[in-house]
Amino acid sequence: MKIHLEGLLQEKDANRSFDVSLKLPDLTWQEEPISFIKPLSVSGLIVNRGDVLDLNADVKGNVSLQCGSCLESYEQPLDFSFDTRLMKSSVESISDESDWDEDSGDVFLFEGNNVDLTQIVKEFILLELPMLRRCKEDCKGLCSDCGTNLNHRTCKCFHTEDDDSDHVDERLKVLKDFFTTESEEV
Ligand SMILES: [Zn+2]
Ligand SMILES: [Zn+2]
Repeated sequence: MKIHLEGLLQEKDANRSFDVSLKLPDLTWQEEPISFIKPLSVSGLIVNRGDVLDLNADVKGNVSLQCGSCLESYEQPLDFSFDTRLMKSSVESISDESDWDEDSGDVFLFEGNNVDLTQIVKEFILLELPMLRRCKEDCKGLCSDCGTNLNHRTCKCFHTEDDDSDHVDERLKVLKDFFTTESEEV
């Protein structure tokens, strides 16, 4: 999604507001799938500050993430703002003494008269993602033995001989005691 900058680049202090629907491509980050089911709403303002353009934007929408515990995908709402700076990649007036560091992530470069919002928004979304991605706070995860998603059903991995399902409650109690005992020993 490109924003046209014609008319803005020539005039210091000129500004341009935008309000777009941005469809981001699905991606893999830290080996987990991240997908965008619906386009995100991105609105903001670009202001010409001379050597650089200031960009501030609000991002709203949903992102589909993978729960790190049960591995199922879940939707996480996004609603955040960011500020950054844009610089034309061919600006030659930027000397070596310049404070601008193109590699610092401080500044996004653009070419010609367009700036591509896709890459910029993507980078800020990655910064916004929770470190610990969980479908819900009390996600029970997967059974480490049989892989059953314990949010949906229980499995019988901790139960030995007795398969009589009438005794579930009693067996859960045994399980609870087992964990209590174990944690006290540690
Ligand atoms: Zn989960
Ligand atoms: Zn199991």
